[in-house]
Amino acid sequence: MHLKHLAWPFFGDEHRALARELDAWCATHLDHAHGEDDVDAQCRQLVKALGAAGWLNHAVAGEGEAIDTRAICLLRETLARYNGLADFAFAMQGLGSGAISLMGTPAQRERYLPRVARGEALAAFALSEPEAGSDVAAMQCSATEDGDSYVLNGEKTWISNGGIADFYVLFARTGEAPGSRGISAFIVDAGLPGFEIAERIEVIAPHPLARLKFTNCRVPKSQMIGTPGEGFKVAMRTLDVFRTSVAAAALGFARRALQEGLRQAHERPMFGATLADLPLTQAKLADMACTVDSSALLVYRAAWQRDQGLNITREAAMAKLMATEGAQQVIDAAVQLHGGRGVRRGEIVESLYREIRALRIYEGASEVQQLIIGRDLLKNG
Ligand SMILES: Cc1cc2nc3c(=O)[nH]c(=O)nc-3n(C[C@H](O)[C@H](O)[C@H](O)COP(=O)(O)OP(=O)(O)OC[C@H]3O[C@@H](n4cnc5c(N)ncnc54)[C@H](O)[C@@H]3O)c2cc1C
Repeated sequence: MHLKHLAWPFFGDEHRALARELDAWCATHLDHAHGEDDVDAQCRQLVKALGAAGWLNHAVAGEGEAIDTRAICLLRETLARYNGLADFAFAMQGLGSGAISLMGTPAQRERYLPRVARGEALAAFALSEPEAGSDVAAMQCSATEDGDSYVLNGEKTWISNGGIADFYVLFARTGEAPGSRGISAFIVDAGLPGFEIAERIEVIAPHPLARLKFTNCRVPKSQMIGTPGEGFKVAMRTLDVFRTSVAAAALGFARRALQEGLRQAHERPMFGATLADLPLTQAKLADMACTVDSSALLVYRAAWQRDQGLNITREAAMAKLMATEGAQQVIDAAVQLHGGRGVRRGEIVESLYREIRALRIYEGASEVQQLIIGRDLLKNG
């Protein structure tokens, strides 16, 4: 059931083979219900395993190669279907190194990308600040030029892999122009003097997450990605790829919820028959399946379109909005089908219910996606 969409014309045979191979690997290496203690250790271990098996090669792009958006989406969909933390570990290697793949110098690529692909270096993406989440242009963290360095001062928050990453692609205000045009991108190695993990943040679906603080932290100029003032473009180009992949992860969670819902409907005896025999159950399952398929179509349209070199601003926003909001509904319906079991800790649908929530907020909240779509419609029809 989960691999039927591979017959769609969006994919090449290499994508079909990749998704099948990963599905088989996940079936033997991953289990959805991950424990909640020591997520740091679990993440490190997952990154190592994903690197050793070669899956992380798809999270980075070699010199002159394009990032294969469909491959990334298929990988995230499949990983999310098996294990949310494995999807997170894969996604952060991609998101955290994406700017280096897309716009890094040969020396930067050589220094970071092979280690990211082998699972030897953990990556992070540091854009958000306490006062600048949806409003990226309100960023205050500053990078002041001084000799052959930039000096960082300020904070970043909600940073995934914060505290365990080996390097952070960080965005800071260099002041070439006001608002979003005065921002630059840097690669900041963990452990630099003046760089501290100010707070570890706990969330409903445990992932490594932190607030970072910079006090006169010196970063060599050679660590800048792109040119001064180009940081917003670097961030948006990275998010263009990974926003669609957030939708793919939501799709994976929704598929798993539908699978669990179907199993429960078949297995649960009720009123002398089973839950599945009740017409209202069939209607619920039908709604869930329609949402899953429409999300999948939007995800792979956007991914295919990007791989053709076309602009996907509207399509990526549509995919993220519909797949994340839709997955929330599908998972909620699966919880409902499970009755009391649905909210019991350790049940797969219970962990999916917690896992999906943040996807409607990060990499552009649903309202931000609505604005992107609405503005694009008004401008381009
Ligand atoms: C689990 C998790 C992981 C994260 N990982 C990272 C990471 O690795 N790197 C990173 O840089 N950031 C990360 N973030 C931060 C994330 O990108 C921000 O939380 C997000 O951009 C929203 O910013 P905010 O939290 O400041 O909310 P706010 O910007 O204060 O927004 C609050 C709410 O306002 C609403 N809203 C926003 N814009 C509009 C609008 N125009 N009109 C109407 N309503 C609107 C939305 O409902 C939004 O949820 C992560 C967040 C979470 C929860």
